[in-house]
Amino acid sequence: MKLTFLGTGTSMGVPVAGGFSFDKESSDPRDFRYRVSAWVQTEQTSVLIDIGPEFRFQTLRSGIKQIDLVLVTHEHTDHIGGLDDLRPFNYAQRSSIPVITLPRCKEAIYKRFYYMFGPNKTPGSVDVEFLNAKEFQPFVFKDLRITPFPVLHGNMPIWGFKINDLVYITDASAISEKTIELIKNCKILVMSALRLGPKHPTHFTIPEALEIVEKISPDKTYFIHMNSQVKHAEHEHHLPENVFFAHDCLVLEL
Ligand SMILES: [Zn+2]
Repeated sequence: MKLTFLGTGTSMGVPVAGGFSFDKESSDPRDFRYRVSAWVQTEQTSVLIDIGPEFRFQTLRSGIKQIDLVLVTHEHTDHIGGLDDLRPFNYAQRSSIPVITLPRCKEAIYKRFYYMFGPNKTPGSVDVEFLNAKEFQPFVFKDLRITPFPVLHGNMPIWGFKINDLVYITDASAISEKTIELIKNCKILVMSALRLGPKHPTHFTIPEALEIVEKISPDKTYFIHMNSQVKHAEHEHHLPENVFFAHDCLVLEL
């Protein structure tokens, strides 16, 4: 299995547009972060996790030619804003593309992308179909065993995904014991860690994320969803052994 980080930045991306940033700019390319998304490839399938506003650029940059399934963690725009750009994949694959997400997010997509669904669907618009999945219930998709699980993003429950031995969590600010039990001792943990500090109402800071990493005890951890405060070269060596900052285009072989 191959995991490609398509984007590792927070909701505004890094650097921030329009000069709104308190943080000094970095010339390190690893500190250039598109909105979070990841691509899982196996011999049999190609699965996307989240589809943000930079999806089109990400597919071109990483050479994505096929998408068999999209897993969506939640309905914030930095995670679904690229849905429209699935169109060329529909055309090339001559089929609709299955999407798996939690029921509330499905409703939000129906509302926000109303023109893709129902009897008044705009001809030629994106063709997606929702597959049913339930929290804590594993399902098999080609050669992957995928289990959605809940984490909290502020007050809002969202989904993370266990995909074989990989665990992907973004935008979390609290994780229940039941979820920890499911994902404990995984091989690779991908988890959001917004900034060094101060505390944030809907995201783990790096010190908070590190406490959770200890509980989950994975072989290796890669942090994502970092803001412009986090500088790869300056801050990575403060992380414990086997904990790293992911960066855009980083590829892991699992
Ligand atoms: Zn986000």
